[in-house]
Amino acid sequence: MAKPKNAMEIFQHLDKSNCRECGEKTCLAFAGAVFKGAKSLDRCPKLDSDMIDQLSGGSEAPNLAERTREEYLGQLKDEIRRTDLSEAAERVGGRFNGKKLTLKVLGKDFSVDAEGTLSADIHINPWVAVPFLNYVLYAQGVSPTGDWVSFRELENGQERYPLFQKRCEESMKSVADVYTDLFDDMVHIFGGKEVDEAFESDIAVVIHPLPKVPIMICYWAPEDGLASSLNIFYDETADKNLDIGSIFTLGAGLTQMFEKLAQRHGYVAAAGG
Ligand code: SF4
Repeated sequence: MAKPKNAMEIFQHLDKSNCRECGEKTCLAFAGAVFKGAKSLDRCPKLDSDMIDQLSGGSEAPNLAERTREEYLGQLKDEIRRTDLSEAAERVGGRFNGKKLTLKVLGKDFSVDAEGTLSADIHINPWVAVPFLNYVLYAQGVSPTGDWVSFRELENGQERYPLFQKRCEESMKSVADVYTDLFDDMVHIFGGKEVDEAFESDIAVVIHPLPKVPIMICYWAPEDGLASSLNIFYDETADKNLDIGSIFTLGAGLTQMFEKLAQRHGYVAAAGG
């Protein structure tokens, strides 16, 4: 898609419901804020990730959210320089080889050195980098208990839950509805583990985006006229090891990654999921 030359070109791809979830009074105001670089497109929960990618790729305006994220990453890396990585490795369930602290992220090695430089077996997305560094710096190191709770039951999760539900659970459900290998891929590509009898779901897989922050994804297939559903559960200790913003970021990032995988495999998730 050619880069948007003005706010109207962004506006024409918006929902036009003026629902205000982006924090602007109207979709037009939101389009203007995005064009100026004051808001990022992902603040509108009704835009799918594909459209966000297309519009962002072409946007000439500096993206304030992206710059803010880069600055934030810089601050976290500064903090890492003041941190004893050997002590941190023990606390967060990683290992330290004298140079780098390494954790398993979705089954793959992900490391940071004393200068805050990240390296990994996988592509380093910002949605992994920020939670990873927050986890290394601030996780209390509480071991998971195996008791699963919803996002809204975590500290400060209640108010963010509507957006989490829309951006993560509903979108991931749309992927699971059409991408029949999704849960197999979670097991085989991302080191997940299928578990039994979780809330009577048809399938439940536990994955580890971070060692002490497991996520359980449960899917109920459509049945007897009932629609399918999908819920993401966290260990009750998740908020002791990661702030709610990072927990949200991981959920949204995973969802986008699964959407892209589904597309790559030729599946097209239902719109509006
Ligand atoms: S959240 Fe999206 S649909 Fe709602 S007002 Fe903002 S731009 Fe429009």
